[in-house]
Amino acid sequence: MNEMSKPVTAVSPTTLARMIALVGEKNAITDKEKQTPYLVEFRALWTGHTPVVLRPGSTREVSELLKIASETTTAIIPQGGNTGLVGGQIPHNGEIVLSLNRMDKIRELDPISNTITCEAGVTLQRAREAAAGVDRLYPQLLPSEGSCTIGGNLSTNAGGTAALTHGVARSHALGLEVVLADGRVLNNLNKLKKDNTGYDLKNLFIGAEGTLGVITAAVLRLVPRPKSVETAWAAIPSVQAAVDLLGLATEISAGGVTSFEIMAREGIDIVIKHGGARDPLAAKSPYSVLIELSSQRHEGLRDQMEQILAEGLEKGLVLDATICESVEQAKTFWRIRELFGEMQGREGGSIKHDISVPVANIPAFIEEGNAAARKLIPGCRPMPFGHVGDGNIHYNITQPVGADKAEYLKRWDDMNDTIYKIVLKYGGSVSAEHGVGIVKRDYLPKIKDPVAYELMKTLKRTLDPKGILNPGKVL
Ligand SMILES: Cc1cc2nc3c(=O)[nH]c(=O)nc-3n(C[C@H](O)[C@H](O)[C@H](O)COP(=O)(O)OP(=O)(O)OC[C@H]3O[C@@H](n4cnc5c(N)ncnc54)[C@H](O)[C@@H]3O)c2cc1C
Repeated sequence: MNEMSKPVTAVSPTTLARMIALVGEKNAITDKEKQTPYLVEFRALWTGHTPVVLRPGSTREVSELLKIASETTTAIIPQGGNTGLVGGQIPHNGEIVLSLNRMDKIRELDPISNTITCEAGVTLQRAREAAAGVDRLYPQLLPSEGSCTIGGNLSTNAGGTAALTHGVARSHALGLEVVLADGRVLNNLNKLKKDNTGYDLKNLFIGAEGTLGVITAAVLRLVPRPKSVETAWAAIPSVQAAVDLLGLATEISAGGVTSFEIMAREGIDIVIKHGGARDPLAAKSPYSVLIELSSQRHEGLRDQMEQILAEGLEKGLVLDATICESVEQAKTFWRIRELFGEMQGREGGSIKHDISVPVANIPAFIEEGNAAARKLIPGCRPMPFGHVGDGNIHYNITQPVGADKAEYLKRWDDMNDTIYKIVLKYGGSVSAEHGVGIVKRDYLPKIKDPVAYELMKTLKRTLDPKGILNPGKVL
């Protein structure tokens, strides 16, 4: 057993009753059927079990709950929208689920300081809509925006499709309110860009996946809303062409590339076959890229996109391309990208890797990865896609046509080992944006710098000495 994953002892009826009384019976879900949305992971990869899902309505209630949990050594799993992809939010061992979804107030919108202060359970979509209401952009964008929450985004340090320009969740947070394992409230809700009064404590909790504290609110940075956006779909001959085209686009647009997403041919064909999408171009190229530019100016962006594609064609980086004529058409292009991972499931098993490597190494990584995967399981179908500009590739490998799904998925660990060796060879990370959870936990001691890993354990022991917060996740 992992050193940090202590077994969960059954919660005593007295403790349970105290916790339920605190949030009120109507906010404590014990009915098994009503618990289901909190227990089953998005892809149904895991189903947890729990005596109760607690839904506190305030920071004070979270604090009181954690005081009881700490006093009685009761394990707690913080949960937001339950869209996490590494099993971090699931009570695998009967822990209590602490859902933040009732804490969904937008406490303040300040368009002068360019900030929004949200409680943890506000969905990403609502935060974006509220920002748009004062002509600002909250620049995090994930396909799961309708369900995922600000608390979950920060706890996973989520990336998404706009990280190229605006950065990952960490870049958006100015201040946090966090309830510590013993119930103390760390009030760090400041709006300051500049605050050098010692250690930057908020960054300990961002990306900690609920293992160091429960985020209850955050001050997030807003940016001006773009005045124009252009979207194009380009057929390209190779992964190297994608990297070179990104360089060209960055130069011509002077840093205006908001998204630059690559998709492999076979995966696009699957989205067309199962997802009812239409291929934007007649040409069947080995790869395609979806490019989005945005600008604070009303004029000129279209010319830039045309120049990027024209020069790309001239240099052999682009085989064919089309620029969207309407917002509706842009949505149909984005739909292909959004369905890319999901539709692979219609073809049977898919072994997944959420990795990053330095941008310059993406072509070599994909070439070696494809060869190694096919050597390990002949006939398997690598379908890389994702965020070229962040070096973040969702390297999914679909089962051979007609193979037995269960047999194929038994090779998950072998395939991971094979691909991760190549990732590490190219100076990459085995978890780019989804986190560690339980999926990558056992890899950490093998790949992390030993001093870094020891420091992580020291922090965990210091902030959560009884090991009650999300035990067995990350460490
Ligand atoms: C269709 C789909 C597309 C996705 N696309 C992307 C993508 O492009 N980029 C990306 O990065 N991710 C993506 N994800 C993954 C997921 O949406 C993100 O990880 C998201 O940030 C999780 O938010 P959540 O509120 O659902 O958190 P949950 O799933 O509920 O929890 C995730 C983790 O955070 C912890 N946690 C949650 N809330 C709190 C809190 N308030 N305090 C402390 N800990 C907390 C949990 O314990 C768990 O470890 C996608 C998921 C889906 C289903």
